[in-house]
Amino acid sequence: MTPMLARSPRVIVIVGPSGVGKGTVVRALLDRYPEIWLSVSATTRPPRPGEVDGEHYYFVAPGEFDELVAAGDMLEWAQVYGLHKYGTIRHAVLEHLAGGHPVLLELDLDGARQVRQTMPEALTVFLAPPSLPELRRRLESRGTEGPEERDRRLATAERELAAQDEFDAVVVNDDVDQAVIQLASLLGLPER
Ligand code: 5GP
Repeated sequence: MTPMLARSPRVIVIVGPSGVGKGTVVRALLDRYPEIWLSVSATTRPPRPGEVDGEHYYFVAPGEFDELVAAGDMLEWAQVYGLHKYGTIRHAVLEHLAGGHPVLLELDLDGARQVRQTMPEALTVFLAPPSLPELRRRLESRGTEGPEERDRRLATAERELAAQDEFDAVVVNDDVDQAVIQLASLLGLPER
């Protein structure tokens, strides 16, 4: 690879089980590296209090989501936790890459597998908890899900943890600052 290509912007896919602190790590990474663009996904999930359409997600009706898929407008999509559909809007990713920005995709395991097929140059990173009991503790203490939803997320977490060897890199979220330093280094960005 030429030095030019080694420095060119790329796609980074972050997958991590619910409760691992993905949101916190991603926010800290973007605060320090505002040149990274975080993709805004489309979802059929209803907005949570405080979530803004077009900022956190594009909240769409199921029929509209299916039309986007049928039109080939989704880079990848998945039904997450067997409930709602989530997908990455292809043209937005390509535009930001063309504009010189590294693009960050926060996906579930199925989505990461699809991107690996269609964009093999993407860097895939698994954000892991220090342990499964610690993940359970974090999920319980944040208290945003009821017991049934929490169990569903923990079952998915076990499936995700079992797949971490598929990823280009595993970053353990023991300390947010250390996780950000590792992610920046994987992206070839200078320490700030
Ligand atoms: P939440 O409902 O908590 O916002 O997100 C649930 C899960 O959906 C998260 O683990 C997140 O990584 C995943 N997710 C969000 N957007 C996308 C997307 O565009 N594609 C896929 N495959 N997963 C997504």
